[in-house]
Amino acid sequence: MRHTDAIVVGAGPNGLVAALTLARAGLKVDVYEAASDPGGGCRTAELTLPGFRHDVCSAVHPLLLASPAFRDIDLSSRGVRLLTPVVAFAHPLDGGRSASVGGTVAEVAASLGVDAQAYTRTFGSIVRDADKILPVFLGTMRSVPRHPIAAAEFGLRALSSAQALAGRFRSEEARALIAGAAGHSMLPLNAPLSGAFPRLFGALAHRYGWPVVEGGSAAVVDALVADLTSLDGRIETNCLVKNLADLPPTPTVVLDVTPRQLLDLAGDQLPRSYARALARYRYGPGVCKVDWALDGPVPWAATTCRHTVTVHVGGTFEEVALSEADVNAGRHPDRPYCLVTQPCVVDPGRAPKDRHTLWAYCHVPNGSDVDMTDRIEAQIERFAPGFRDLILARSTTTATATEAHNPSYVGGDISAGAATLRQMVFRPTVRWNPYRTALRGVYLCSAATPPGGGVHGMCGLGAARTALHDVGQQRGTRSSS
Ligand SMILES: Cc1cc2nc3c(=O)[nH]c(=O)nc-3n(C[C@H](O)[C@H](O)[C@H](O)COP(=O)(O)OP(=O)(O)OC[C@H]3O[C@@H](n4cnc5c(N)ncnc54)[C@H](O)[C@@H]3O)c2cc1C
Repeated sequence: MRHTDAIVVGAGPNGLVAALTLARAGLKVDVYEAASDPGGGCRTAELTLPGFRHDVCSAVHPLLLASPAFRDIDLSSRGVRLLTPVVAFAHPLDGGRSASVGGTVAEVAASLGVDAQAYTRTFGSIVRDADKILPVFLGTMRSVPRHPIAAAEFGLRALSSAQALAGRFRSEEARALIAGAAGHSMLPLNAPLSGAFPRLFGALAHRYGWPVVEGGSAAVVDALVADLTSLDGRIETNCLVKNLADLPPTPTVVLDVTPRQLLDLAGDQLPRSYARALARYRYGPGVCKVDWALDGPVPWAATTCRHTVTVHVGGTFEEVALSEADVNAGRHPDRPYCLVTQPCVVDPGRAPKDRHTLWAYCHVPNGSDVDMTDRIEAQIERFAPGFRDLILARSTTTATATEAHNPSYVGGDISAGAATLRQMVFRPTVRWNPYRTALRGVYLCSAATPPGGGVHGMCGLGAARTALHDVGQQRGTRSSS
């Protein structure tokens, strides 16, 4: 271990953005990563057969495009290319029917028949104001928005449930679209805030599209690592930090970990009230994920589903709601709502010629070790008859295995904390600055801080800016951030 100005523990996207921000400010930064490769939830690997490259975790990256943190990082100069399907996401229903979001609000509205007006009323202003609204929800939730009226209007609507939002629509197709986007929240669909997700995801879909990274999500991490090392930053892999006391003395330590891990790393050093607040942090459901190597594209009955990367599988609004209610009540649904991604639709290089990779997960109770492969495959087969015949190989990761691969996914919760109203605003504890911990010079930068889960790097940027501000104060200099 060399002398450094700052240490970052964890090389997920947020840890790497934090490290890069510190290094760009002139600090000498070392990153310690438990896994054998950097990237955390942004890695790509041959999980099934040689030549089939699967995104181990994140695959679809609208947040990357919307994120202010990535605006200053020139990914394209490092060879990162985003491939955007015409259809952002689709939702099949029985009988070969489907609904989808892509293109303009008017185009989607026209495809929804009786719900055309309701779609325009719901999404028209959100999409028009997307550049005013999205930065607020990708921010710290602690500052006055630059466009307070647009933000307040959106914020009030976002408090409602997906069920209330679906109540505006009459057709099974439109209601299913709402359910599919709301399901990402992992909340019951009648819970407050579950209606925020379809609105935000709709805005992202119309404004940016839902792209994948050519060759796999790991290319983003490779670019961040290249930028960091060009600034004399270093990354040490296979290095699990078990206690903060084991780190060399360093004025600044930024942790890409969640509250439960911070308790493990520093429990005895933390003031009791802060430790209690961390212990109250709630985790959400886990996921069980399956990756497949396929002998061809998924034979969706609904052709729209063949032209998108992201497919929300689970049937009608009521079916998706039942699935998510089951999970939140500690049960494993028989017919789970599944998030499915098929990157080869836009990125054929992920698999050998004419073959495809496929990734899907469903939600399960936190800490579950139940293998949901059969139930997920049955759901896909229901909307794509013949799917099972194409399977060459598969790899399943249960919720407990997800945590074993990455300790930040506590109980398999890939969002690093439940999306409750309290935790969306006061994440991880009720403090004005969410990135400072109760320990001087120690910061949290994981998705357990605002704005939460996803590959956007904003938690890392927020933590690093706070740390730079504090370093500037200690040195008696003014910090620019
Ligand atoms: C199956 C799945 C699908 C997803 N799909 C998407 C998607 O399509 N789009 C999207 O935007 N997001 C998606 N996500 C979420 C996204 O991956 C995460 O929100 C994001 O990676 C969080 O970044 P992070 O840096 O906070 O943490 P992580 O990416 O979890 O990284 C944390 C890192 O810290 C390391 N670490 C933890 N503790 C220690 C320790 N004590 N010592 C050393 N190292 C440690 C871990 O090994 C890990 O590498 C998905 C996640 C999963 C699991």
